Amino acid sequence: TTFPEQCSVILTGAASSRGIGRATAHYLAERGWSVGIIDLDESAAQAVAAEVAEAHGVTAAGAGANVADEAQVRAAFDALEPQLPQLVALVNLAGVSSADPYLEVTPDEWNRVIGVNLNGVHYATRRAVETMTANGVGRVVSMSSISAQRGGGTFSKTAYSAAKAGVIGFTRSVARELGRHGVTVNAIAPGPIDTDIMGGTLTEERKSTMAADGVLGRIGTPRDVAAGIAYLISEDAGYVTGQTLNIDGGTYMH
Ligand code: NAD
Repeated sequence: TTFPEQCSVILTGAASSRGIGRATAHYLAERGWSVGIIDLDESAAQAVAAEVAEAHGVTAAGAGANVADEAQVRAAFDALEPQLPQLVALVNLAGVSSADPYLEVTPDEWNRVIGVNLNGVHYATRRAVETMTANGVGRVVSMSSISAQRGGGTFSKTAYSAAKAGVIGFTRSVARELGRHGVTVNAIAPGPIDTDIMGGTLTEERKSTMAADGVLGRIGTPRDVAAGIAYLISEDAGYVTGQTLNIDGGTYMH
């Protein structure tokens, strides 16, 4: 289960300018990873890939796909893999928020949120681990949320909490099945992170309320999460699997 000399990571949901994914792509490229990016918006994915390659001198490539559509996900991996060194890690970041209260949630909204946040994690993971198990080494990290662990209490409501809780169960079960193939599978549960996912509702006032929920007196940055991802996909994290790492400023302690 040692890593090859050249390693690639594919990130889903890494094209938004202030998102966790783009920050993570830079953070990982700075540490020598070649980078593949899959996002809804193909030209944005390619633009972030070009920017990462330029800034850090690594190979990078982007592809467009809706992660809720398995055929699109498989086509994106098929397009990216030949352009990159060996695929060692997958980071599932593609996600959507959903502020609809439970009593108002429609079937379409429910299915949209589960489709992207849970099915999307399954489709990308399923495809990536085909390569990883064939090579006998791999790392998968998926974004859950403290919303899954403490019953909402965040911008997003029940559909989101259910999908993100699903990510934790998925992570544990796939970790158990794939450990003998040299593949580790972990989740990250971020607390409030300063990105645009809350659709412009993250005002300064809202930031201080959310900061007061934790014990460090601030909300998180994309870099806080990127550093946790870098650890979990590192060669040195080979004895860590099935875990959920909270990066939440002490908002949820367990
Ligand atoms: P963001 O909105 O900046 O990034 C989400 C990315 O996913 C965007 O690039 C978007 O284009 C992409 N995306 C959305 N739907 C997609 C689809 N169907 N197919 C492909 N790509 C799609 O948000 P972010 O805050 O960087 O969130 C990244 C991840 O972290 C998400 O899974 C989110 O749920 C999770 N998370 C965020 C926070 C937070 O406070 N920001 C907290 C907990 C968990």
